[in-house]
Amino acid sequence: MKLAMIGFGQAGGKIVDRFLEYDDRTNSGIVRAAIAVNSAKADLIGLDNIPQENRVLIGQARVKGHGVGADNELGAEVAEEDIDEVQNAIDQIPTHEVDAFLIVAGMGGGTGSGGAPVLAKHLKRIYTIPVYGLGVLPGTDEGGIYTLNAARSFQTFVREVDNLLVFDNDSWRQTGESMEGGYDQINEEIVRRFGILFGAGEVGDGEDVAESVVDSSEIINTLSGGGVSTVGYASEEVELNTSGGLLSRFTGDDGGDDGLDAANTTNRITSLVRKAALGRLTLPCEIEGTERALLVLSGPSEYLNRKGIERGRKWLEEETGSMEVRGGDFPREEPEVSAAILLSGVTNVPRIKRLQQVAIEAQDNIEDIQQESEENLEELVEDDEDELEPLF
Ligand code: GDP
Repeated sequence: MKLAMIGFGQAGGKIVDRFLEYDDRTNSGIVRAAIAVNSAKADLIGLDNIPQENRVLIGQARVKGHGVGADNELGAEVAEEDIDEVQNAIDQIPTHEVDAFLIVAGMGGGTGSGGAPVLAKHLKRIYTIPVYGLGVLPGTDEGGIYTLNAARSFQTFVREVDNLLVFDNDSWRQTGESMEGGYDQINEEIVRRFGILFGAGEVGDGEDVAESVVDSSEIINTLSGGGVSTVGYASEEVELNTSGGLLSRFTGDDGGDDGLDAANTTNRITSLVRKAALGRLTLPCEIEGTERALLVLSGPSEYLNRKGIERGRKWLEEETGSMEVRGGDFPREEPEVSAAILLSGVTNVPRIKRLQQVAIEAQDNIEDIQQESEENLEELVEDDEDELEPLF
């Protein structure tokens, strides 16, 4: 699937930058164009891979390249005021070669949190191809204002996109790491999961053609209907055989045609599917009640079989209760087999409910503190008996 990616704000820009690097490294061909939009000049300069001419600075008249400082209302305003600048950059990309837009943003900050939904609304008015969002939730330790920003952005972003794919920093945070080092690793997890998913169907010349290929229309159909999506992923190493073929370190050579036991291959696939669905999801949630799902099995073609995928698909149907579970393979000559599962239209998400609760508390607190500090200031400035007169 070919995407036009737009990274909004610092996190969004860094993640799209990383997608470009992933695309280069794996030859996946999913990033047809990459644009970064920010109100902070320094963040745009810090990117490595996004072409200079695709870096758009917005809000210069208001914030002079210094960013909006976690004020997402201001983020939304400057995005709206400078939407033409963003459109100018989009006009330079061959949108007729693109299957969908993907707007990436951290929802806890200011520029991306406020700007991404504004851009989604704008793009949906102009283009007929789908506009997806990839929204990153802040860690719970980031504090009330980030949570409040994320809760408000989430509500708006879901409404404006054709589907919102969510990644929760909180579930992926690792203790004892520097913030930057931590994000580096988290961003790698993000691009791997979404990369495999969107990369399915983009098989280049000379590569194996999948037995039951996943093409972009299946990804689009799974995401259609809107709502919120999460992705599960699991992988297992397989070893390169010295005689040229590939051999699993787990199955060994049993004398079969390609040295692999079909039953083992099937079992490996079904166990990977379970691990992917029941393990850590990009947004933790209950998978029961998911509206639609897509299963992508990737790896060397001799490790993929129709039976395994079919079983994995059936199992997913039972677990989710969904009648719309698609599945296919994505042959890649890499020494690992992996299952990526897109769960689209999830509704039982306690993490979002908690986020909203904390956001409401933060909002109430902010109002109380504001009122209190106004009263306190007045008490400080005014003399007790009101004997003094201000100058004017
Ligand atoms: P903006 O530039 O005003 O849009 O704000 P940022 O993108 O800097 O920050 C918004 C939120 O994104 C933060 O609260 C973090 O939760 C998250 N964040 C920032 N940088 C990264 C990153 O590199 N990766 C990930 N996964 N999240 C990030």
